[in-house]
Amino acid sequence: MADCECLAGCPFFNDKMKDNQGLGAIYKRTYCQGDSSQCARHMVFKKLGKPAVPADLYPNMVDRAKQILAAAVKI
Ligand code: SF4
Repeated sequence: MADCECLAGCPFFNDKMKDNQGLGAIYKRTYCQGDSSQCARHMVFKKLGKPAVPADLYPNMVDRAKQILAAAVKI
């Protein structure tokens, strides 16, 4: 698995988002340095671009990412 292409500029990876549940390290391994195609932030980034990624969207919030993408399709 390769590092995510967004790693350098990603607020989550660079600890700009709160790690309320202490899962940050696990998410980084799973998504950022694992399979970024499963990351909610990356999904929105790929389809809609970086400005469309909400500041509070965590990598595991795939359902929310799908809602964002579905809403964008309707526009
Ligand atoms: S996998 Fe997601 S959270 Fe990690 S660097 Fe990429 S976009 Fe950011």
